Amino acid sequence: MAGSGHSFTPVVSTAGLLLDLSALTGVMTLDSINSRANVWAGSRIADLGEPLWQGGLSIANQGDIDVQSIAGAIATGTKGSGKQFGSLSSQVVSMRVVNGLGDVVDIDETQPDLLNAAQVSLGLLGPVLRVGLQLVPAYKLREENIVLPMSEVMQQWDHLLTTYRHFSFWWMPGNRSADMYKLGNVPADHCFVKLLREVPDDGLDLPPGEINQRTDRAYRIYPDGTTDAEFHELEYMVAARDAKQAVAEMCQLMKTRFPQEISPLQVRWQRADNGFLSAQSGRDSTSLSVSGEIGRDYLPFLKAVDAKLRPFNPRPHWGKLHFLDRHRLAEIYPDFERFQQIRQQFDPHNLFLNPHLAALFAD
Ligand SMILES: Cc1cc2nc3c(=O)[nH]c(=O)nc-3n(C[C@H](O)[C@H](O)[C@H](O)COP(=O)(O)OP(=O)(O)OC[C@H]3O[C@@H](n4cnc5c(N)ncnc54)[C@H](O)[C@@H]3O)c2cc1C
Repeated sequence: MAGSGHSFTPVVSTAGLLLDLSALTGVMTLDSINSRANVWAGSRIADLGEPLWQGGLSIANQGDIDVQSIAGAIATGTKGSGKQFGSLSSQVVSMRVVNGLGDVVDIDETQPDLLNAAQVSLGLLGPVLRVGLQLVPAYKLREENIVLPMSEVMQQWDHLLTTYRHFSFWWMPGNRSADMYKLGNVPADHCFVKLLREVPDDGLDLPPGEINQRTDRAYRIYPDGTTDAEFHELEYMVAARDAKQAVAEMCQLMKTRFPQEISPLQVRWQRADNGFLSAQSGRDSTSLSVSGEIGRDYLPFLKAVDAKLRPFNPRPHWGKLHFLDRHRLAEIYPDFERFQQIRQQFDPHNLFLNPHLAALFAD
């Protein structure tokens, strides 16, 4: 299955048949009373904001870009930042899937095991045709992004995390680091701090404001610019309680062993959820991401990051580079075997495994 092709891992590549549901798009049904909607699987997140808003609803939280298909974003556990919010997958309450036997299967909250397997499935249960989402009443956001020295971010960490709906930051190891994500002028050892606060809807639509100080409908504020990735990213989720130590160790590694790498270190938060293959499964998490520059041999850097974070028992973002093998998978996902049982039931002939996923999931 192809979504919008925004994964850094070869989750979509196949020498076989590739299905593209990008024409299957839009909101199918909307239930304002229970804040729920059914959407077609091929819908880009960007295409859902306006029709949901017209129905008085919003997605509770979003990532830094909105060009992904909803099914693709869910399949990899895509998320934004905010300690009281789970990933997009955690907001999935139902799904229609065509399994590997050609049966159309409807999954909902009355089948929690199937739902938890389907929430982050990498397309392994079959093509998803439609998704039911738990939404929230429509809301506006005020963006108050700032640049702070790293020492200040460390000091204000808990305050920023509890005061803002969304707190995340990019730490810059060098003076060129901010260029990689087009974050403007941020000196070495400083952070670009993304801060979003919910504001009451006064009913007025504002003219577009200056980036970093905008106030607008939430779905217009989340995307922050970089959609043409000129980097290859790795993102690992650790337990939120370990985050300060993990960040300190990463900064040390980047400064001392890889001064030639320009990548910023991005740090974000997510609430625990129940998806069997979710990186946040059963634990409140903090995600740490770094990127390799295209055209350079960045693998030694990313492998060293993997080794440094390994004592924290990290789980990867499925759409971003990682070094998991089958053995590690079973170790870090307590419900891996439950996922496998459901995968085998849905796809007994392994139709939905490509080479990358076969190495991780084939029997
Ligand atoms: C510039 C950039 C910024 C990003 N920012 C963020 C961010 O802020 N937060 C975050 O968490 N991630 C982020 N990502 C990662 C991205 O959200 C994920 O990789 C996401 O999966 C991409 O969605 P897609 O529609 O492109 O899916 P694809 O990459 O095309 O597919 C992903 C997976 O979904 C499966 N799939 C797609 N459609 C279906 C379907 N209908 N039925 C069954 N399976 C399906 C595919 O087979 C594949 O396994 C970013 C990536 C880039 C390149």
